[in-house]
Amino acid sequence: MLKPAFVKELRSIVGTENLLTEPEELTVYAYDATRSPGRPWAVARPAAAREVARVLEAADRERVPVVPRGAGTGMSGGSVPSEGGVVLSFERMSSIREIDEADRIAVVEPGVITGDLQREAEKRGLFYPPDPASSAFCTIGGNVAECAGGLRAVKYGVTRDYVLGLEVALPSGRIIRTGARTFKSVAGYDLTRLFVGSEGTLGVVTEIVLRLLPLPEAVRTVAAFFPDAERAIAVLPLIAGRRIIPRALEFVDRGALQAAESHLAIDLSGGAGSMLLIETDGPALSADREIDTIEALCREAGAVRTIRAATPEEQQRIWKLRKSISPALYALKPKKLNEDIVVPVSRIPEMLQRIAAIGNKYGLLIVNFGHAGDGNIHVNVMHEEEERPKAEQAVREIFEAVVRLQGSITGEHGIGLAKAAYLPLEIGPDAIAVMRNIKKAFDPNNILNPGKIFL
Ligand SMILES: Cc1cc2nc3c(=O)[nH]c(=O)nc-3n(C[C@H](O)[C@H](O)[C@H](O)COP(=O)(O)OP(=O)(O)OC[C@H]3O[C@@H](n4cnc5c(N)ncnc54)[C@H](O)[C@@H]3O)c2cc1C
Repeated sequence: MLKPAFVKELRSIVGTENLLTEPEELTVYAYDATRSPGRPWAVARPAAAREVARVLEAADRERVPVVPRGAGTGMSGGSVPSEGGVVLSFERMSSIREIDEADRIAVVEPGVITGDLQREAEKRGLFYPPDPASSAFCTIGGNVAECAGGLRAVKYGVTRDYVLGLEVALPSGRIIRTGARTFKSVAGYDLTRLFVGSEGTLGVVTEIVLRLLPLPEAVRTVAAFFPDAERAIAVLPLIAGRRIIPRALEFVDRGALQAAESHLAIDLSGGAGSMLLIETDGPALSADREIDTIEALCREAGAVRTIRAATPEEQQRIWKLRKSISPALYALKPKKLNEDIVVPVSRIPEMLQRIAAIGNKYGLLIVNFGHAGDGNIHVNVMHEEEERPKAEQAVREIFEAVVRLQGSITGEHGIGLAKAAYLPLEIGPDAIAVMRNIKKAFDPNNILNPGKIFL
């Protein structure tokens, strides 16, 4: 619990109305998408980097945990205050400070909603490619801290590929700048890359400089439905063989497809057993040619139905199906362990077989969907509360299989609380020791997001 003098100090930093301490207010900041329970002792809503730095300095002196929080949509418990402490929430730091068309950069505060930045860039003929399926409600600060990937990573890469520079407040109360406003900079160690994906454990990001691209002229979308997952996944090497990189290449298995269709009360699939959702972009002629080739390849591989979106509304209708899967799955079982494994694309068929075998072994329903184009599959181990131990055992075996296939246990959701026990499956003890030393250098008293990443 917090000392009254410390609470008074926090109030003097962020203003009385921006320090929340009532239990019903705190509940709103206690969870993320993992639904793991947490309990903040207070929530501070700073308006500027200087305020963030002063909160950190005071918390460091008092040895009080600080948990940075964006929109709380994280899938690994990163913003859950599992050890209590002060939640730092960025709803008052949500302005797009600058979009510079000549230099093709944006400068934003961490609380900016990702979709808002995308729209503002597009109004100027520019493009911010990272597109987590949660873009309508997650924040850029959270994206940076998790190195969010999403739907267009197959062609455009992930958040780290667009972060040019950062302003970061440290537990010492200092504010540092990393990187530059330019696409190139090799001055000193690459601290920008170190902070991206550090899950709020090294410093608190207070400003972000992002690279933008020219907006592609055209986007073409096709949904292809197959009798089973095997035939859908068989299309991936065919597309690669034509040297086409789609802008999105999403896979949805039977369980996920049925759940999403019944959630939305629609029938696009005609009862098919699997879906690929594929987009191409670029100059109109080239986007058209590529989508034609892809649709033909899907049919050759056994697609029973393909739907081409002729208008932006039809594109949105198809994407709505894909984006509703996550919440729709709760109709199948009350609990899910949602993992985001990655394997080399060529190993996806083997991985799916392995997942099916593990599901059968434990009598658990496992539903798969996600960014197959870059090998990143969301594996959802559905279960009842009392089945939790065997669901966790199934997850462990899935992760062991991932590591054997030379993949990674998390492609974009981060380790957080949810996967801390499994980190040693992928990262050796010496590398973990290096990571712990880095943590100590930035946060010697372990006040920043304690309990995350490392057990
Ligand atoms: C329906 C749904 C779909 C999703 N789809 C995708 C997807 O396609 N791809 C993907 O990558 N993710 C996806 N996610 C996961 C999630 O949206 C991302 O991880 C996102 O980046 C989290 O952003 P947030 O603002 O909600 O952050 P939060 O969940 O609030 O926080 C995430 C982490 O960031 C840290 N943090 C937040 N702000 C700061 C800051 N300013 N400085 C330092 N650390 C900070 C927190 O401490 C925490 O560790 C999805 C989630 C949902 C619910």
